[in-house]
Amino acid sequence: MSEFDVIHQYFTRAPQHSELGVGDDAALIKLGANMELAVSADMLVAGTHFFADTDPYQLGWKALAVNLSDMAAMGAQPKWATLAIALPNINHAWLGEFSRGLFACADRFMVDVIGGDTTRGPLTISIQIMGEIPTGLALKRSGAQLHDDIWVSGRLGLAALALAQLQGQLRLSPSAFACCSAALHSPQPRVELGLALRTLAHSAIDISDGLLADLSHILQASHLGATLHLNKWPQACYWPEAAGLDLASQAKLLLSGGDDYELCFTAPKAAHDELLQLGKKLALDLCCLGEITRDSGLLVHGLDNSRLDIKELGFDHFK
Ligand code: ADP
Ligand code: MG
Repeated sequence: MSEFDVIHQYFTRAPQHSELGVGDDAALIKLGANMELAVSADMLVAGTHFFADTDPYQLGWKALAVNLSDMAAMGAQPKWATLAIALPNINHAWLGEFSRGLFACADRFMVDVIGGDTTRGPLTISIQIMGEIPTGLALKRSGAQLHDDIWVSGRLGLAALALAQLQGQLRLSPSAFACCSAALHSPQPRVELGLALRTLAHSAIDISDGLLADLSHILQASHLGATLHLNKWPQACYWPEAAGLDLASQAKLLLSGGDDYELCFTAPKAAHDELLQLGKKLALDLCCLGEITRDSGLLVHGLDNSRLDIKELGFDHFK
C-alpha cells in the first residue's frame, strides 16, 4: 500500500467549506469574491528525509523551501507559515543555525512565520504554508488539456546525483558535486515561475518524487496521457561528468530522481514562445519535453530516442 492509498482510504473526504480539498499541491479556500487561500503542509523527518547530521542552516532553508514549492505549483503567492518542530534536546548552536536558514528563506520569499508548536521528540519539522491566489487562477493538477505541451523547469536529477554520491554509489568531480549538493540541500522553490504561469499554463505540479511519478498525478487528475521525448532536453541538463553514467542511468536520474523541486506544467502550444521568453527573463531553463495525449498512460522515448520501459524504472503504479 502506498502513501497515496493511505491518504485515499483514510483521509480523503469531500470538503464542505473549501474549493479544493485533498489531492493537489495545496487546498483552496475562498476568501471573499476575488481571492482564494492556498494551504499546504510538508513534514521532514530525520533519518527519512534528511541525515540527522545535516547542516542545520541548510535544513532550515529546505524545510520552508519544500513548502514554498507547493505554493509555486499552485501559482500562489506565499505569505504565511507555521512551524511545528520536535527536538530531541535544546542545542543552541543547532537552533541558531536552523532559524538563520529558515528566516533566510522566509525573507527571500517574503513569508511571515506566524506560529507553530515546539515539543521534545525525534527531530521532525512540519511546516504549514499559506498563500493567496486570485479566484480561478490556481494551477490545478486536473487542468491539463489534450495536446498541451509538457514543460519542465531547471535541471532534474542533480539532487539525486548528490544523494547517490553521499550513499557511495558514484563519484562526481568536485565542481559537479558542489552544484548537485546545492540542489539537494538548498532547493530554490520556483515561486516567481508559478506566479507567471497563472495565465500561461493549464496545470502544474512540483517535482518532489521524480518527474514520472509527479507527471502521472497530473495525468490521473486530468484523465489524459502523455508522450515524453528525453532527447529534446538540452544537453546542458545532463551531467556527463557524472562518473561515466550510461544513457539509461542518466535517463533514470532525470525521470525518477527525487527532491528536484522544479515545476512540471502543461500549457497550450500557443504559449510556446512566451514561455521561452519567460525562461530567459527568469534566467531559468524551461524545456518542452513532450505532449499530452488522449490515450491514458505514459510513453517515454529515451535520450537515444528508443522507447523506454518505464516499468523498469519502477513506474508500474501508473496505469
Ligand atoms: P505534495 O507532494 O504536493 O506535498 P503529497 O503527495 O504529500 O503532496 O499529498 C498528496 C495530497 O494528499 C495533498 O493534497 C495532501 O494535502 C494530501 N494529504 C497528504 N496527507 C494527508 C493527510 N494525512 N490527511 C489529509 N490529506 C493529506
Ligand atoms: Mg507538491
